[in-house]
Amino acid sequence: ALTAGIVGLPNVGKSTLFNAITQAGAESANYPFCTIDPNVGIVEVPDDRLQKLTELVKPKKTVPTAFEFTDIAGIVKGASKGEGLGNKFLSHIRQVDAICHVVRCFADDNITHVSGKVDPISDIETINLELILADFETVEKRIDRVAKLAKQKDKAAASEHEILVKLKDAFEEEQPARSVDFNEEQLKLVKQLHLLTSKPILYVANVGEDEIAEAADNQYVERVREYAANEGAEVIVICAKIESEIAELEGEEKTMFLEELGIEESGLDQLIKASYHLLGLATYFTAGVQEVRAWTFKKGMKAPQCAGIIHTDFERGFIRAEIVSYEDLLSAQSMGAAREAGKVRLEGKEYFVLDGDVIHFRFNV
Ligand code: GDP
Repeated sequence: ALTAGIVGLPNVGKSTLFNAITQAGAESANYPFCTIDPNVGIVEVPDDRLQKLTELVKPKKTVPTAFEFTDIAGIVKGASKGEGLGNKFLSHIRQVDAICHVVRCFADDNITHVSGKVDPISDIETINLELILADFETVEKRIDRVAKLAKQKDKAAASEHEILVKLKDAFEEEQPARSVDFNEEQLKLVKQLHLLTSKPILYVANVGEDEIAEAADNQYVERVREYAANEGAEVIVICAKIESEIAELEGEEKTMFLEELGIEESGLDQLIKASYHLLGLATYFTAGVQEVRAWTFKKGMKAPQCAGIIHTDFERGFIRAEIVSYEDLLSAQSMGAAREAGKVRLEGKEYFVLDGDVIHFRFNV
């Protein structure tokens, strides 16, 4: 399963946020495909469409979809040189598919800041630099060998060499791999290098309790936004402390508490949605009278693969899929009416499933 890793310097609020995640956490029993590990938190993906489908179909049971966050502790300056839990930390980052970088944007004199003062950009750069140094080493290890091959008129080596040089130049400028422009062909090669700084990233600005409603005025957040914009990365503003309180509430209680705080959606819910997109994940639905359920798939998956997410037998015996988009089903108000309106399609093995598809799979057993 794809996972988003939570990273950040010490004392920025990672554990507080991760606690909120496990508090809000989904019952792992419902999600047998998820990892059982103290460093992994399973979250349900908030999705208004699931509620609407439930009202329409009135099933016995409704099951949201879920995915995983991994808590990655232990980054310090010098990690790429093996300092602290350095190497372990880097190998943990290597295993995640996207990075949520928590940045301290709250001033609290009682809580020590590792470098002495609150300075989100310097914090971000400290971690990013460690990742860049690690990637620099990866590139260095390859570049000489590839250069030799390139000299021997090895075409593949020549194009790889070009990529490695571009990366090395960027790393020397302390720029991450994701900031380098590559064409599609080149990106495939870059992917094989498993670089840390080519993983998709978002920044989590952790603000103080009294600032959450006026986060727009927080100058630390403002700086993080500017930095992120440069990389084309998203910023989610949260107050980790409050999130752990919100995570204990549900339904009406939660809505009321959020209203009191003057926010529409909890920071955690925003973070979950943003991370889900960052991982390239999307949702399709099954909607029967027994169960209405959301399922996670990776964008670009075809119908049989998506069927396989429910059960491997579904993939093996796949015949075709009966599909209506969520919007069409909602406006028709029933499967029968959608069919009469010609909105239900039969799709075969080559169909790329779309976010919001409501699917009935036909298969041989
Ligand atoms: P970690 O080292 O990054 O895991 O940081 P922790 O989650 O342990 O937080 C470090 C300290 O900062 C703890 O005492 C938290 O209670 C405190 N903290 C975390 N988030 C906030 C916040 O939003 N506001 C304030 N005032 N304190 C926070």
